[in-house]
Amino acid sequence: LRRERDPKLRSRLIELRKKEGGLICDLCEKVPGEVQANLAESIYEAHHVIPLAVGDERSTKLSDMVLLCACCHRLVHKAIASEGRWLNLTEARTIIYGK
Ligand SMILES: [Zn+2]
Ligand SMILES: [Zn+2]
Repeated sequence: LRRERDPKLRSRLIELRKKEGGLICDLCEKVPGEVQANLAESIYEAHHVIPLAVGDERSTKLSDMVLLCACCHRLVHKAIASEGRWLNLTEARTIIYGK
């Protein structure tokens, strides 16, 4: 999952989300509480909603990515591993949070 660690892509996604109204986790939809604004973005990681094997065929677009808090991101990858296939956001939310 090296591409997910591309720091440029992650910071572009974070800047876009800030412009659009603020940082929120796309999975649990929590916003950071009492965290310094300049530190809050370190909570978030960029996650590919399209399997990397497919995504490799073209350049990654920001629309292929979601912003997840580090906790949800870890859970999503755990769920993907246990299901044995890539999960979209809705599937991941159902499996992880039951909604
Ligand atoms: Zn989250
Ligand atoms: Zn990921």
